[in-house]
Amino acid sequence: MISENETSDLDNENTLKILFVSSELAPFSKVGGLGDVVGSLPAAICKAGADARVLTPAYGSEKGKGGVLDKVREKHRLRKIPLPVVVALGGTPVYCSIYEAHIDGVCTWFVECPDYFKETIYPLYVDSDTIRPFTVLNFAALEIYRAVKWVPDVYHCHDWPTAILPIALKWHSYYSQLYKDAKSVFTIHNLAHQGIFSSDDFMPQTGIDRSCFVTDVLEYYNSINLLKGAIVTSGNITTVSPTYAAEIQTPEGGAGLDGVLRLHSAKLSGILNGLDTDYWQPETDVNISSPYSVDDLSGKRINRAELLKLCSWEEDNKPLVVCVSRLVEQKGLDLILPAMPRLVKSGARYVFLGSGAASIEEGLFNAMQTHSNEIKYFNGYDEKLSHLIYAGGDIFLMPSLFEPCGLSQMISMRYGTVPVARAVGGLADTVIDFDSEKSGNGFLFYDYTQNSMLLAIERAIRLYSDDAKWVKLVQRGMKTDFTWDKSALSYLEIYRS
Ligand code: ADP
Repeated sequence: MISENETSDLDNENTLKILFVSSELAPFSKVGGLGDVVGSLPAAICKAGADARVLTPAYGSEKGKGGVLDKVREKHRLRKIPLPVVVALGGTPVYCSIYEAHIDGVCTWFVECPDYFKETIYPLYVDSDTIRPFTVLNFAALEIYRAVKWVPDVYHCHDWPTAILPIALKWHSYYSQLYKDAKSVFTIHNLAHQGIFSSDDFMPQTGIDRSCFVTDVLEYYNSINLLKGAIVTSGNITTVSPTYAAEIQTPEGGAGLDGVLRLHSAKLSGILNGLDTDYWQPETDVNISSPYSVDDLSGKRINRAELLKLCSWEEDNKPLVVCVSRLVEQKGLDLILPAMPRLVKSGARYVFLGSGAASIEEGLFNAMQTHSNEIKYFNGYDEKLSHLIYAGGDIFLMPSLFEPCGLSQMISMRYGTVPVARAVGGLADTVIDFDSEKSGNGFLFYDYTQNSMLLAIERAIRLYSDDAKWVKLVQRGMKTDFTWDKSALSYLEIYRS
């Protein structure tokens, strides 16, 4: 057990202490929504009265410049903690430096370890070698108290890269003893990624007891499944929307873990993600051409004009359907690509921003070549351009096969760009179908078919031509509450329980 003199005198006995451990942190190391969530939820938890802190890798230090620490330094004071953190990997000590910054009032620790935290965040494939950086991250979270004299009451872990922490709290020969009373909350941001690999080196490398390699804990068809291990060992499981929490307990939505999730359903709940509404704010956004607000939408036209210019298109008053997305099967691209010939006849033009699967990128490049007046594809990850697309678009397309929560539809509504989305997961919890002039903030469809998607797009395009009705719909979306306020209280309740 950790003795009292190993923790800071400054700790207020009554304040609940939470350590967020995450492989992503927006805006420094973001791949998708996980980065956004860890970049905004801790501040909301602090505002609600707890002491939430963050631990995340300082990727990219091996290059000397341009890595996470440099990005942090551009805007924040960064201080190196005098003591290093040492973790054991296969019996060998690994030395990590810890850097501290206060970001939006949240004490944030960056773990620098150039041998492990390189420029790329996620490996192309998962095996006992490529998970080593995440083992370092998880163990650094368990060792950091020695350097910073602060011990959390709750470890809040996120997705498979931080699954080793709750597993270690129960099954590591040393940490299970040191942290007898430690509590963990594990949030599933996407059940599709589970961290499955052959068990060969894992136990000797991590010091996790081999006896947990059984069906009740880590074993999954004779491999290790880290996410499964976290579900079993964490004190509490959350996921990022109520509908997704229900879906993942079904064989259709459970990605092979529905049985395990049903077994542990008493500790599972769905808490809807919020947005960093200061960052995603069209009134003050420095990344767009002209600011605008729900009461004065004139700036939105200027952003639209700027986006059209970027696409080399003249104004034609047709709606601009936009899509900012990772290009993976989950996001419904296999509905969009074969529907292109019908989409280009729908009376709208389409702008895509994204990167991902080579076949999808190629499909979008081909569509742009064939239909250069109707389709524009920007290849890559581009934070600044994404803001202009959210601001300059009219309709946001999100036909996901599954969607744990989805932030893009919320961002688009905040920017007055009306979502057309499939009613799954968090999309079903945030988009309300326009069915009359009084309610709704977007358009939903249900079946995962081209026809259903096209019908919903056509409904949106028809309404777009009715200016008065369209503006009301846009304004309802912009007024929807996407703050973390309510959800932060739900997390607090879970931490306290
Ligand atoms: P997911 O986490 O599954 O990728 P979300 O909708 O929850 O989906 O979050 C996606 C986040 O990543 C949003 O902030 C979105 O704007 C951003 N994003 C996705 N692709 C790109 C891209 N190519 N360029 C810039 N931002 C992107």
